[in-house]
Parts: sequence; C-alpha cells; structure tokens
Amino acid sequence: MTARALYPGTFDPITKGHIDLAERASRMFDELVIAIAASASKEPLFSLEERLRLTENALAHIDNASVVSFSGLLVNCVSQHNTQVVLRGLRAVSDFEYEFQLAAMNRRLDSNVETVFLTPSEQYTFLSASLVKEIAMMSGDVSQFLAPEVNEALVKKIAKVRQNT
Ligand code: ADP
Repeated sequence: MTARALYPGTFDPITKGHIDLAERASRMFDELVIAIAASASKEPLFSLEERLRLTENALAHIDNASVVSFSGLLVNCVSQHNTQVVLRGLRAVSDFEYEFQLAAMNRRLDSNVETVFLTPSEQYTFLSASLVKEIAMMSGDVSQFLAPEVNEALVKKIAKVRQNT
C-alpha cells in the first residue's frame, strides 16, 4: 500500500512555512498531494491558476509531491485522491482551536479521514500568508519568507492591485 497524504490549503501564496511542512511530510509519506482550495469566499489575491503554478514551482524540488486544485468538500477531494490522511500545520496555540474543529468535522463527514499535524521549523512559527500579504501591501520586504519567484509574483500583483484602485 502506498502511504499518501493530502495537504490542503489556500496557498495564497505559498510561503516558506508551507514549503517547510511539505518537505517534512515528503519524508514521512510515499506521496504528498498538495491540494489548493479555490476558497472563493476568502477572496484570494492570486487566482487559482496562479496559486497552482507558484506552488508547483516552489515545490519542484520535492520529487514525491504533486499539486492539484479543488473546490467543494475537502473529504471528497481526499477520497478522490485515494487517501485517508489530511496533513495540516500547527504554528501556535492560536491555530489549534480552528484546526481541531476542522479535523473533528471532517472525521464526522467521513469517518475514514484522519488528520495529521506537523509543526514547522521554529523560524516559521509566526509566518502566515495573510501577514506576508499585509506587509507587502505596505511595501515591506517579505523576500525572506517566500521563494524568489513567489516574492516576485507578489510584488507584481500588488503593483497591479494599486494601479486598479
Ligand atoms: P487555509 O486557508 O486552509 O488555512 P493556508 O494556506 O493558510 O490555508 O494554510 C494551509 C495549512 O498550512 C494550514 O494547516 C496552516 O496551519 C498551515 N500553515 C500555513 N503557514 C504555516 C507555517 N508558517 N508553518 C506551518 N504550517 C503552516
């Protein structure tokens, strides 16, 4: 049996925290599927296609990782990819309540689904895509938190958003 895990998220955009977690999981599972949620209600800064491309490039060095997108229920995406394991990250206690609720609800929706939590390297415990976007919107340098191509894409995207407002 192949041990496969699915790592879902919005990845708007992928940060070094996400990459750290994917690298750890890739050493624990035979295959890792990164599943990018459309998350329309969160009004992502990057389109689904952009997030897919940026994530694929940022994780190209992980041989056993692949990237897909999904909309709708996570448990459906999990079974479509022939796995039972959902991977999520825990940065701080503040993540716990939401993640605990999500894991319990997913288990209720599909009793086969198990959620596995990993913590990132401590240098990324404070890192979130939303904070990175907030800093970048105020012209702060966030290059240390992102793969170079992602940083470039973020700078361009923000310039474009500014032009249109
Ligand atoms: P979502 O909208 O599903 O929370 P995110 O892309 O924000 O999507 O996060 C996806 C998962 O990655 C979540 O489990 C989140 O806790 C985890 N994650 C995000 N940033 C980090 C980080 N710096 N370190 C570890 N895990 C992280």
